[in-house]
Amino acid sequence: VIILAIESSCDESACAIVKNGKEILSNVVATQIEVHEKFGGVLPEVASRLHVEKISAVIEEAVEKANMSVDDVDAIAYTRGPGLIGSLHVGVQAAKTLAWAYKKPLIPIHHIKAHIFANNLITDLKFPLISLVVSGGHSEIVYMKDADSYDILGQTQDDAIGEAYDKVARVLDLGYPGGPKIDNLAKGIEPQYTLPKPKTEGTYDLSFSGLKSGVLQFVDRMKRKGEEVEPAILAASFQDTALSEVMDKLMLAVDDYPVNQVLLAGGVAANSELRKRMEAAFANRKEEIVLPPLWCCTDNAAMVAVAGYFAYKQQAFGTFEQSAKPSLRVNEKN
Ligand code: ATP
Ligand code: MG
Ligand code: FE
Repeated sequence: VIILAIESSCDESACAIVKNGKEILSNVVATQIEVHEKFGGVLPEVASRLHVEKISAVIEEAVEKANMSVDDVDAIAYTRGPGLIGSLHVGVQAAKTLAWAYKKPLIPIHHIKAHIFANNLITDLKFPLISLVVSGGHSEIVYMKDADSYDILGQTQDDAIGEAYDKVARVLDLGYPGGPKIDNLAKGIEPQYTLPKPKTEGTYDLSFSGLKSGVLQFVDRMKRKGEEVEPAILAASFQDTALSEVMDKLMLAVDDYPVNQVLLAGGVAANSELRKRMEAAFANRKEEIVLPPLWCCTDNAAMVAVAGYFAYKQQAFGTFEQSAKPSLRVNEKN
C-alpha cells in the first residue's frame, strides 16, 4: 500500500510518499523557520501565505523523488487538524485536488496521532503502548490499546511544553524555535536556580504555565537586585523542572498501565536531556522504549503517511465535504 501524505498544520509545508507504513520513498519538508525567526514566533497569516507559495513545488518534488506518478499511489492522506486554520486549509485543498484529479480515496489524519505513528518508521509498534507526546502545541500521556484506540491519560492543563521552551528562549533572547537552543545551552550545566514545581489536578496531568511565569519572575527579581542571570543556568534549571514534571507523570502512568512499548512523540522528543532521562528511567524495566530519530520528531509528512497506512487498513476514508478542523479531536468522525 502506497500513501501520499500532505502536512501543513503549522510552519512546515511537507509531502511524503511511504510504502506499507515503513518504507519512505520520498519525504520533502519546506520549513518556514527563517521567516518566523524574524518575528520570534509563527505568524499565522504569514504561515498560510507561505504554504500557498510552497505546497505545489513540495508535492511535485516528493512525487519526482519517489520516481512515480500520483496514479501509482493508493490513497491521499492529509493532516486535517489540530493546527492553524489558514495553514491547514492549504494542505486540505491540495489533498482534495489530488484525490479528485487522480480518483484516489482521501484519508484525514489527526496531527498528534501522526507524531505517534512516526515511530513505526523505525520499529514495529507493539500495542498496548504509552506515548509521551511533547510538542509545540500538545503535552499528553496517551495509552493506545491498539492502532485504533487513543486514551488520553493525562494532558497539560495550560501551556504545551514546547510553547514553554519557546517562551523561555525568548526571555533569554535565544531566537526561534527555542527548544533546540535551550537544549544546547543547558548541556552539562547544573540546574542551580530554584523555580516553582508544577501543580496539577489529575494524577497524570501536566502544567507548564506556572513554570513559565516562574522564569519571568525569577529574571525580574534578579534584575531588581542588580544580579546577573546566567542564561545557561536558567536554561538548565527550566529544563530540569519541566522534564522532571514530564518524567514523574510518565512513570506514574507506566506503573499503572502495563504496556509493551513507551514512545516519545512530537518536537520536544528531539530534546537530548529528555532522551537521556528516558534511557535511564527504563534501563531496568521490561518495557521497550522507542526514541524517534531527530528528523521525524518535528513536523513532516512521512508520519502522516504512516498514520494514513494504518487508517487505510481500517478503510477509514474521508469525504470531500470534510474541511480543516483546527481543534480536531482524535476520535472525531466528521
Ligand atoms: P503540535 O504538533 O502540537 O501541533 P507543532 O507541530 O508546532 O505543535 P512540533 O513541530 O511537533 O510542534 O514541535 C515543535 C516544538 O518542538 C517547538 O516548540 C520547538 O521548540 C520544540 N523542540 C524542537 N527541538 C527541541 C529540542 N531539542 N528540545 C526541546 N524542544 C524542542
Ligand atoms: Mg514546526
Ligand atoms: Fe507537530
